[in-house]
Amino acid sequence: MLRRVRTRFAPSPTGPLHIGGVRTALYAYLFARKHGGDFLLRIEDTDQNRFVPGAEEYIIEALQWCGIHIDEGVSVGGPHTPYRQSERKEMYRQYAMQLVKSGHAYYAFDTAEELEQQRKTAEAAKQTFAYGSASRMSLKNSLTLSSDETEKLLNSNTPYVIRLKVPADETIVFNDLIRGEVQFNSSLVDDKVLLKSDGMPTYHLAHIVDDYQMEITHAIRGEEWLPSAPAHILIYQYLNWKDKMPHYAHLPLLLKPDGKGKLSKRDGDRLGFPVFPLEWKDPFSGEVSNGYRERGYYPEAFINMLAMLGWNPGTEQEIFTMQELIDAFSFDHVHKAGARFDPEKAVWFNAQWLQKQDDTQMAMRLSKVVKQHFNLPDEHRSLSLEYVKECVRLLKPRIQFEQEMTVKGSYLFVAPQEYDSTVIGKKWKPELMPFFNHLLSAWADLKSFTAEETEHVFKDIAGKNNIKPGEVLQLTRVFISGQAQGVDLFPMIAMLGNAEVNQRMKAALSSM
Ligand code: GLU
Repeated sequence: MLRRVRTRFAPSPTGPLHIGGVRTALYAYLFARKHGGDFLLRIEDTDQNRFVPGAEEYIIEALQWCGIHIDEGVSVGGPHTPYRQSERKEMYRQYAMQLVKSGHAYYAFDTAEELEQQRKTAEAAKQTFAYGSASRMSLKNSLTLSSDETEKLLNSNTPYVIRLKVPADETIVFNDLIRGEVQFNSSLVDDKVLLKSDGMPTYHLAHIVDDYQMEITHAIRGEEWLPSAPAHILIYQYLNWKDKMPHYAHLPLLLKPDGKGKLSKRDGDRLGFPVFPLEWKDPFSGEVSNGYRERGYYPEAFINMLAMLGWNPGTEQEIFTMQELIDAFSFDHVHKAGARFDPEKAVWFNAQWLQKQDDTQMAMRLSKVVKQHFNLPDEHRSLSLEYVKECVRLLKPRIQFEQEMTVKGSYLFVAPQEYDSTVIGKKWKPELMPFFNHLLSAWADLKSFTAEETEHVFKDIAGKNNIKPGEVLQLTRVFISGQAQGVDLFPMIAMLGNAEVNQRMKAALSSM
């Protein structure tokens, strides 16, 4: 019988969610939606030392901002409550015990110091220590101690861990959804700790018990888990759950822009782009890290960009809505190699999504920002919806983020405070004064102050004064807007209107 597709995102709340983590969640979500299944959020907080307050809330808020809806799990509940591993602690021990009883796991009593010593000895011999088939029989565990000795240690509350007994020299094969058939020699797999001395399960045991109980059909996770996968396959086998084992998909890493190594927070700081979806304030150090949301990205652009990092639709299409991603997504087109993060492409995605925004909606947002930014009264002419909409129309093709509108287009709302000194230095000469005076009075006489009329008059007056328009065009722009570049000059002049233009030109000329 075909099982209902169920995927999960299972982050550990150890800090803000890295964009690589968001991509994992996104792919799991797309896959679940595509197959009409469920997407779960499980919080894997078994490592109490790495718990960071606020991280879980951050993860939930980030998913929400991205438009990734949780069907079941932390924050929404569901039939397998609780979905936080620390609250499921009691469920795991029985499975570790079952494995001990069936001879597939054992108690290990080695102290941290003893293991450290093993590591040092191995290092001195230019080897790496691994607790596994080659070494376990010379270590302190229930395989080397008599059952009486083991019993005694357990009864006297000696700290212990439970380890998986990985057989030597077996071939472990599984089918990865991205990599196809993957083979491992079990001698290279260490005896993973299943249950820690504090009674908490490790990831290895906990995620399997949870995936099994939560009826997960596809476990989609980062590539860093691939080396542990053979141990996971064995655990499924030893618990007799192999028929319910989810399909594993190990996603490629997100790489630094130069392709050398994993993308880290430091790369973001160094190169000036966020590596987190939302701003994050470290609760211990108070350090603030940038977020895509706060940087002004649309969530649609952010997930579109992330989806394309490591996946392609098999066509030339680059711009996708969430629904289009759902329809197009499949693991066949997820790449095996790491995906290089391209900060410029991220900006490009936002600019593309900006062009798709509705002008009226944008104008409504902009007029609020403008009012506040320039401290304008409600009745100010540049706050009318029609006017702001026109500003949006003119500015849109020239920007990549909405918040650039108040800076790049400030002159559409308020008169400039200063004038681009390069243009003034290069172009202004007092002999031009008669032309500008002439122009101002001709403009003032205009009945219809349109882009066409003002341009026509401009050229006409220039000709009469024996001046090439090129000598005075940029000056005119700077007198009116303060800036050397901007939206088309004559439409802007028409928008600002006769009185405003007259006032600005006079103010500028009197300061020359
Ligand atoms: N807690 C694991 C992590 O954050 C989850 C891996 C998985 O999805 O199985 O990497």
